[in-house]
Amino acid sequence: MRLGVMGGTFDPIHVGHLVAASEAGFLLGLDEVIFVPTGQPWQKGHRQVTAASHRLTMCLRATADNPRFAVSRVDVDRPGPTYTVDTLRDLAAAHPGAHLAFITGADALRGILTWRDADEVLRRAQLVGVTRPGHVLVDPGVGADRVTLIDVPALAISSTDIRDRVRRGAPIDYLVPAEVAEYITEQGLYQPDAGGGVAAGLGAAIEAPAGVGVAVNHPSGRGDSAG
Ligand code: ATP
Ligand code: MG
Repeated sequence: MRLGVMGGTFDPIHVGHLVAASEAGFLLGLDEVIFVPTGQPWQKGHRQVTAASHRLTMCLRATADNPRFAVSRVDVDRPGPTYTVDTLRDLAAAHPGAHLAFITGADALRGILTWRDADEVLRRAQLVGVTRPGHVLVDPGVGADRVTLIDVPALAISSTDIRDRVRRGAPIDYLVPAEVAEYITEQGLYQPDAGGGVAAGLGAAIEAPAGVGVAVNHPSGRGDSAG
């Protein structure tokens, strides 16, 4: 089995993620790409990230119609901040013998050397960097033989922009799958009064303890910059 692993906050998942995963799957001959949303508690910069249950549900809805896409809850179920090395350990245990390709956008790729146990990350997975508008895709310092750089169709879409659009009532049609847009509306996510979009309808917000085990500003929303 050749498995792609696409980690991220996915707050919300959008077509930029889906196209990147699809193209990487095609170019690398992957049997499946697994989307792995980060766990909770989680703070990205000064923003409280939406409850994992919502982000996970949106990933499931966005990928349901594609037999080559899957969603894993390993990071959601592991307590504490999400580190890529833990994601890869858990997925390797769940899929013995599988070749893992960790797919990351040009922005997130840049920080790889600061990730917790970066050497183990590189031993466990083929590192794949994909193009993203507004970011330069280069070897992040691991050596050209240890990273595969690929071109994917350019979609200048970010979850940050989607959240802003919902907040100001601008359309998100065609930027996220229809099932995701419907879920956002149903659940009232990203509305100005949603308290930062946390856990609407699914219990209380989990506060991340300030500065404790919390990574700040890692572009993919994973905790590696705290490690
Ligand atoms: P945010 O604006 O909240 O940071 P995002 O759009 O960057 O959200 P993330 O969940 O942070 O989405 O990203 C998950 C992974 O997907 C990262 O590796 C990121 O680089 C990649 N990615 C996100 N959007 C795109 C895109 N439009 N094209 C290519 N890669 C992308
Ligand atoms: Mg990001």
